[in-house]
Amino acid sequence: MQIKFLGVGSAFTTQEYFQSNLQITAESGKKLLIDCGTDVRFSMMENSISNEEIDAIYISHLHSDHIGGMEWMAFTTYFNPKKDRPRLFMEKELIKEIWESSLKGGLGSIEGKRMHLTDFFRCTGIPNEGTFEWERIQFTIIRMRHIMNGYKNLYSYGLIFRDLKTRSPWIFLTTDTQFQPGLINRMADQAALIFHDCETSPFKSTVHAHYDELKTLPLSVKRKMWLYHYQPNPVHQPEMDGFKGFVKKGQIFEL
Ligand SMILES: [Zn+2]
Repeated sequence: MQIKFLGVGSAFTTQEYFQSNLQITAESGKKLLIDCGTDVRFSMMENSISNEEIDAIYISHLHSDHIGGMEWMAFTTYFNPKKDRPRLFMEKELIKEIWESSLKGGLGSIEGKRMHLTDFFRCTGIPNEGTFEWERIQFTIIRMRHIMNGYKNLYSYGLIFRDLKTRSPWIFLTTDTQFQPGLINRMADQAALIFHDCETSPFKSTVHAHYDELKTLPLSVKRKMWLYHYQPNPVHQPEMDGFKGFVKKGQIFEL
């Protein structure tokens, strides 16, 4: 499989980085998009990918840098007679919420018809720590602490996955997450490669793991770790601190 970072930036990034949305290409050639943010149209265009090529989408959580491109994706594939509905994989409660809280306003009606999420996507809801398979790649979703508003946790759902066909190592993608050293140390026992959310701004938002926090992890964990979802022009030198580095926009990993 091939993993390509269409973007590596945070929510309010620039076109130099684009938002952190990824494309996975299976051995079959089919493509899965991990998150579909506000600027995904432009990051896909920069990589010469049309949405006709997107077979499936995985959404980690409901912030716009992860779902802001979904209305565009839904309408342009629905009204394209050559295109089947893309598959949509999400945690089972979140897949209800994306419709009710985010997408229904724009996608709920077309001329002469009321619509639902399933009119646009072939939907699969997955329980936390549940597994799904797509094109011989096996994914398990992992609940990550992202925001606690005082009443309710708004989680993001990371992925641990491997290609069964190429027998790739396990890969862990955190998606948006606070610093969770216990969980990361556990994941590092299983995964050979970790892609970790990393805030680099001087002021900590507290809803993303900050570089200064990640730096305190054991070297054996940092050696497996690429950092992404960072702010423009980071001043840090991740290789000097034991990490693999900052993922660059457009960077490809063959596994
Ligand atoms: Zn987020």
